[in-house]
Amino acid sequence: MAQYPKRWYNKEMYADIIVDITHEKVDKKFEYKIPSHLADKITIGSKVLIPFGRGNKEITGYVVGFLKEPSFDKKLIKEIHNLAPGSIAIEEKLITLASWIKEEYGGTMAGALKVVLPIKKREKTKEAFYVRLAVPREEAIKKLEHLLLYKNQKARVRALAALIDHPVLAKEELKNKFKVEMKVIEALVKQGLVMVETKRIYRNPTWEMEEKKEEVSLNQEQEKILSSFKENFSKGNLKPCLIKGVTGSGKTEVYIKMAQEVVKSGRQVIIMIPEIALTFQTVARFMGAFKKRVAIINSKLSYGERYDQIEMVREGKIDVMIGPRSAVFTPFNNLGLIVIDEEHEGTYKSEQMPRYHGREVAIKRAELENAIVVMGSATPSLASYYHCEKGDYQLYELTTRATKNLLPTVEIVDMKAELKSGNRSFLSSRLQELIEDRLQKKQQVMLFLNRRGFSGFVSCRACGYVMKCPHCDVSLSIHKGGKMVCHYCGYETKEVKSCPECGSPFIGGFKAGTQQVEDYLKKRFKEAKTLRMDLDTTREKEGYQKILKAFDNHEADILIGTQMIVKGHDFKDVTLVGIIAADMSLYSNDYQAGERTFQLITQAAGRAGRGSVPGQAVIQTYSPDNYAIIKAKEQDYEGFYQEEMAFRDLMEYPPVYSLVAVIATGKEEEELDLAMDYLKKFCDLLEKKVEVRIIGPATPYIKKIKDLYKKVIYIKSIDNRNLIYMKDKIEEYIDLNKGFNNLSIQFDFDPMNNI
Ligand code: ADP
Ligand code: ZN
Ligand code: ZN
Repeated sequence: MAQYPKRWYNKEMYADIIVDITHEKVDKKFEYKIPSHLADKITIGSKVLIPFGRGNKEITGYVVGFLKEPSFDKKLIKEIHNLAPGSIAIEEKLITLASWIKEEYGGTMAGALKVVLPIKKREKTKEAFYVRLAVPREEAIKKLEHLLLYKNQKARVRALAALIDHPVLAKEELKNKFKVEMKVIEALVKQGLVMVETKRIYRNPTWEMEEKKEEVSLNQEQEKILSSFKENFSKGNLKPCLIKGVTGSGKTEVYIKMAQEVVKSGRQVIIMIPEIALTFQTVARFMGAFKKRVAIINSKLSYGERYDQIEMVREGKIDVMIGPRSAVFTPFNNLGLIVIDEEHEGTYKSEQMPRYHGREVAIKRAELENAIVVMGSATPSLASYYHCEKGDYQLYELTTRATKNLLPTVEIVDMKAELKSGNRSFLSSRLQELIEDRLQKKQQVMLFLNRRGFSGFVSCRACGYVMKCPHCDVSLSIHKGGKMVCHYCGYETKEVKSCPECGSPFIGGFKAGTQQVEDYLKKRFKEAKTLRMDLDTTREKEGYQKILKAFDNHEADILIGTQMIVKGHDFKDVTLVGIIAADMSLYSNDYQAGERTFQLITQAAGRAGRGSVPGQAVIQTYSPDNYAIIKAKEQDYEGFYQEEMAFRDLMEYPPVYSLVAVIATGKEEEELDLAMDYLKKFCDLLEKKVEVRIIGPATPYIKKIKDLYKKVIYIKSIDNRNLIYMKDKIEEYIDLNKGFNNLSIQFDFDPMNNI
């Protein structure tokens, strides 16, 4: 999907330049004239020499954009002197990437630069003090004997004695262990007996983590992937790869071996993971292979810690960086490999402008630096699998669990039948029976409550019927005032009191939370100990870790959680996984509902039976005939892919078509409505020129957040470039049109979440 922007090389005669990216001037751009001898040499990201300030001192700057006309008097504008000498600096490449992000996803250059260059402020570095003898040991001993003659020299005696025993001591050690204060050391320094050394210390949180070394020899399937990778990498055959490997098939092991190969050739590796919660397990394994040359980056680190990680990267002290989406911008100077683990995860998509997708940015960055991207998942995103089908990505497969454990058996329970037989609780009688059995056997259970995409869809508990939009085939959502609304096209209808299909009065929004499920379990299984993992219980810094560790130590029998518990955690004693409301994501009101449901069920079921006892998974659903559920039960990705792609093609949704949501927010509802009506008219005019389809404006489910109203126009096209064209035109339009002054406009390409 990554198309090259049209305005890459300049045809204009003026350039926007930023002067110093390590300081805080990032937001300020200066205009310069491009001399004719440089006209076809300068690109975005070029490092140039420019006269600056009153004295026209020559400094370096970076080209971040081009202009047809300068915004002030042409006579006053200065000229670029030349291209700056030297090899391409890492900043230069990242600025090129920022420019691509701006073109591809909209927004400002300053906004894109902030994302790409997160560390701007200089941080005071941290230093450690060490003390050692400044004289030969024998001399120190003599001096010590002399000092012993005096009663008031006890502190000096302690210090000298300690340093005679230990050649080097840290200041803290002297203070804590030997009760020697700094002023005593200072006195000894004056006497010329000891000296103090300072050493820069880096805050690297990985150094306090345990490493986990597992000597495994790869199986045949893994080996095949690795050797193909090695060959491609050495030949410079850099097509992105996707490893489709069932849960526990040993993908991580393959990443580690690939990374070793790349590091051996003197290049660096970025490992992208979907969630901070997963960092620790991954880091432990990478540290087993790369020791201290591993770093992590994420939002939970302090600014100083993050600064130090980046400094170590710049100084070549790090080979492997592990982190979520933003790790893709790690300023390695010879990047060789970017791994994207669980590439299907929604967290790779940014929810703030620029709303970039980590996967697309990784592929672009790799292209700029001749690196290779390796993605992995048990349930690849439709988008990535589609790329494989088209030949853009190389597909690899791992079909068995590496530990030779069998995949879990999966069964479906029809919750409509449960209701018929009088069971109105959260748990089917089948799941209750299996939980009972596991409690007796002292094995563990995970209950997964699917709340992703939950947005008040309306369903019948008697027959499973779901109220849908007649135009868009996505579920309608309940709004206040007894309305049901489609968030794609704005279609509205009155809320129903009975099921149009079977007449049952049990129709309405589905309400269940992890708390309610836990309360129910406590009543139903009095002897069982439970743990709950959701946004409430993981708010504190180490929240995740504590709960996972406790469960791992068997401090509880049942772990209840939202989609957080689905990812990557291995518990050897879990032999039963219950998926309580598999439907929730199925009827969320967006076109990816089926894909998410399939992924969640497959991944959740994959948590069962990681140890030696085979696992079992139970899917509770009101829609046992839905193909996403059936294919997940059968663990048939291919079958799911074919059906889902037929649906996407028919309904003109991604990845077959490209889709952009133009999201407008504002304080005044009337002003917003009016502006969006104008914008719609403007888009309709363009619709005659380029092949696009305009839908909306529609009101999202939550139409007002924090006093801001929201409206969305969707644009579809078979060609992503048409959407980029539309985005450019819309940006120009809202720039000129006063009606948008008080509104904010965002672009969301191939939106992942409910808007
Ligand atoms: P994935 O990333 O696909 O979920 P992992 O790499 O985490 O899989 O592997 C799952 C488990 O299997 C881990 O405990 C890992 O140590 C083990 N494993 C991986 N490859 C092998 C192998 N070739 N032989 C034995 N055990 C392996
Ligand atoms: Zn019904
Ligand atoms: Zn609709």
